[in-house]
Amino acid sequence: MGLESGIKIIKILENNGYEAFFVGGAVRDYLLKREIKDIDITTNCLPDKVLELFKGVETGKKYGCVTVFQDGFSFEVTTYRFDGKYIDSRHPNEISFASDVKEDIARRDFTVNALLMDKNFKVYDYVNGLEDLKNKMLRAVGNHHERFKEDALRLLRAIYFAVKLGFTLEEKTFAAIKEDANLISKIVGERVILELKKIFEYGKITEIIFLLQETNLAEFIPNLKVGITKLINSKNLEAMDFHQFMALIFYLNHENYQNYWRFSNKEYSEFNSIFNLAFVTKADSFNNLLVYTYGKKLCLTANKINRILYQSPDQSALIEKIDEKLPIKKTCELKFKGGELISLYNLKGVQFIGAIVDDIKFQVINHILKNDYQEIKTYVENKYLGGVLFDKKV
Ligand code: ATP
Ligand code: MG
Repeated sequence: MGLESGIKIIKILENNGYEAFFVGGAVRDYLLKREIKDIDITTNCLPDKVLELFKGVETGKKYGCVTVFQDGFSFEVTTYRFDGKYIDSRHPNEISFASDVKEDIARRDFTVNALLMDKNFKVYDYVNGLEDLKNKMLRAVGNHHERFKEDALRLLRAIYFAVKLGFTLEEKTFAAIKEDANLISKIVGERVILELKKIFEYGKITEIIFLLQETNLAEFIPNLKVGITKLINSKNLEAMDFHQFMALIFYLNHENYQNYWRFSNKEYSEFNSIFNLAFVTKADSFNNLLVYTYGKKLCLTANKINRILYQSPDQSALIEKIDEKLPIKKTCELKFKGGELISLYNLKGVQFIGAIVDDIKFQVINHILKNDYQEIKTYVENKYLGGVLFDKKV
């Protein structure tokens, strides 16, 4: 993805007298023959000059970073830098631009993320990253404790890369994460959530739970500990996304979970719906009304929770089938609804409209009545005319 266009950028920088290399995930994933997500280029050219040479925008000029657009791709072009002292376990209070690429390499998180590659695909390795890449090892660059103290997000990034790449955390790196796990509490919830979402993209739930537990990180991220301790020996774990995982965690641990996790009110109410659904279907089948009322997505999550926690039979095929066959997904899809009741009949009271529409919906959802104007009209007249619909309008 776009390496050829990246080479153009490197050549232009070199033709203007600068050094430039691919660095980070692009080099790592190129060597691993994995799909490349985004491309970083590191250079001794200063941000203002990068902006003069290319079409781009400053995305983090303070950190020397410019996003350059070339041939429809975007590239993060970052000036060599070394970081000053870190404040708040996340941000350096000052950065300085460096003249030697080795200084830039030294500030990077893991050895496999610190490889350089030039325009001819020649790799430069100042941190033994190639050896680690071969052995599928994730090792922090430099002094492990220092690196995690500087930026505690690296603790979670380690899990992200271990899960994403299927790498093992190198012994000392692992020990340092475990010892420094408490630092994760200094990182604001939003950043932790973003990183967890990335981790869950790879669906490797057993590894994630194991790593969060074994590194002690679960202890210092609010609400995770109880759930993870209960799940760690589960034989029924299956792939799930971040939302499903959090539903499971909140289900297992009802302590107040709304302060830290920045879910919307809608999402919190969905979590409650999932808990209710899991409760009523633990030992019973999903039915048309449940799938209609709560929607397929929440039903599938509740099904997952029951499978994992209670070894309930898998009802996902049933849920899919019910959903596919539902004649309507919303009230407004009824071919005969409240409006018709008002225009066609004299009603004893408006309060009956809701009840009659609910009745129609029930009949349609359960395939007793077709979602057909005439069929529903006949049903309504047979049942209600002369009663709450006291006569037809003339
Ligand atoms: P991905 O495949 O997720 O994009 P990546 O390795 O490219 O993985 P990015 O977050 O895109 O990761 O960062 C690009 C590079 O910048 C990393 O490979 C690493 O060299 C460096 N980097 C990013 N974040 C940090 C950090 N918190 N501490 C040190 N170095 C970092
Ligand atoms: Mg990247």
